[in-house]
Amino acid sequence: MRTKPDYYDIDLYGDGKARAEIIEVRLRGGGRALVLDRTIFYPEGGGQGADRGTINGYDVLDVREEDGEILHIVEGDPVPGPCELVLDLSRRRDFTVQHTAQHLVSGLMLRRGGYPTVSMRLGEDYTTIDVDGKNISRETLLAVEDEAVFAVERDAPVVIHLCPPERVEDFPLRKIPPKGEDVIRVVEIAGCDFSPCCGTHVPSAARIGMIRILGSEKYKGMTRIYLIAGRRCLKDSRVLRENAETVSRALSVPVEETGAAALALLEKTAKMEERLKAAAEEAARIRACAIIEKAELEGAGPDTWYAEYFPGADMEEVSKLGRQLRELSGAVFVLGAGKDKKFAALCSAEGVDIRPGLKEALEKAGGKGGGGKDFFQGQFASGDELEAFLAGFQTKAQA
Ligand SMILES: [Zn+2]
Repeated sequence: MRTKPDYYDIDLYGDGKARAEIIEVRLRGGGRALVLDRTIFYPEGGGQGADRGTINGYDVLDVREEDGEILHIVEGDPVPGPCELVLDLSRRRDFTVQHTAQHLVSGLMLRRGGYPTVSMRLGEDYTTIDVDGKNISRETLLAVEDEAVFAVERDAPVVIHLCPPERVEDFPLRKIPPKGEDVIRVVEIAGCDFSPCCGTHVPSAARIGMIRILGSEKYKGMTRIYLIAGRRCLKDSRVLRENAETVSRALSVPVEETGAAALALLEKTAKMEERLKAAAEEAARIRACAIIEKAELEGAGPDTWYAEYFPGADMEEVSKLGRQLRELSGAVFVLGAGKDKKFAALCSAEGVDIRPGLKEALEKAGGKGGGGKDFFQGQFASGDELEAFLAGFQTKAQA
């Protein structure tokens, strides 16, 4: 464990710049891996992502620690010699804040609830903490959140202890320290947490700014906690406020009542949809009765074929009408839906097979389709082709 690498030295609130020397340039995939005499770039590790920025203007795509060396992966062709390092400081600050907040919440989850952290990941949008425990109540999470925010308010110091391995038991560590190190780096958040860690941390809890536990879910027999801190809370609040205000204006209710108002609206919409569906069924029934009467199809059987084209209808409407027609008559109905360029053919008379007649006509007209003895569907490339196909049946019905 590196005890005091240069990447801890950077002023989080400064300009993020430093001078260094490129001592080696290695080929790495399509890019280059740079070894520097010193670096302000944090390499990926311990659940914290690598820093970004530039080295002599070349974008740093990744930073890794391999065999005790820190490799800076860049695109382009830099040469050895003096260089300027420019760190993406807002990203470093953000990760540092998230990381320290994670320590705080992990520490308090253990102290308040007895839930140890098994793993964590600092993501670009939120941090996840997987704790060993099931059915953790909302109240517990809120209590931990309150206590974490109180640590921010009272500005609990964050102290780095560099400790020889034989003295590590002096600290009530939340997790087991790595083996084989000369020095263990223990990060203490006063009154909340002791944890061995090599990541980057703010010097005191007030620098975290704000902490929010967004929620939790079951995860591989554990509980996954979603966490944001610092400016991410500000961003989250702005997004939520903007959305809530949009809903508030649209529903003409105060922001605080948008949830209840949205649920009431959904309930109202569901009822309207039900009524609309019933009305559509009724309309289809009336339409079907009119067709039966007009075409004199009452008492008709499978020898009578009736076709009709509905240019403005889709298959759902046509199918609805088809179901009603089938109940009222034993004739064969071939109904075309202009919107979808499809048709449905059906017959309710027993022992009938409508397929041969349809297949023959389809082949002539150049459409595609298939189905069973009493229900058949098909499709055409154009509405005109569908109309011509249907006209063929009308001729047959009239014959
Ligand atoms: Zn840490």
